[in-house]
Amino acid sequence: MDVTEFLLARLAEERAALDGAEAGTEAALGEEGTGRRRAELRAVRAIVELHRGAADIWGFHGCLTCGNVADTTAGFPCPTVRALAAVHSDHPDYRAEWATSANPD
Ligand SMILES: [Zn+2]
Repeated sequence: MDVTEFLLARLAEERAALDGAEAGTEAALGEEGTGRRRAELRAVRAIVELHRGAADIWGFHGCLTCGNVADTTAGFPCPTVRALAAVHSDHPDYRAEWATSANPD
């Protein structure tokens, strides 16, 4: 599982939790909060789609949006995807090598 697959799995889990009509979630977030969370999940998915890797497009391997190439550890998956995945750094499947120095903390 690479960092992009990891992040998409976490997003799917969160969406399933929201779709599951969990009364506790709805009560905790409220209808407006749940709608906002769904919008946030869609936004993160859209960002991930923008930063998916290109495999050999005219010889380029890496992120077409950032221009980061696949042959450097820090370059790809790009820092954008790594920063989004870091939200889930407490998950048992998260790997420390995915962390990016781009995080402000
Ligand atoms: Zn990128």
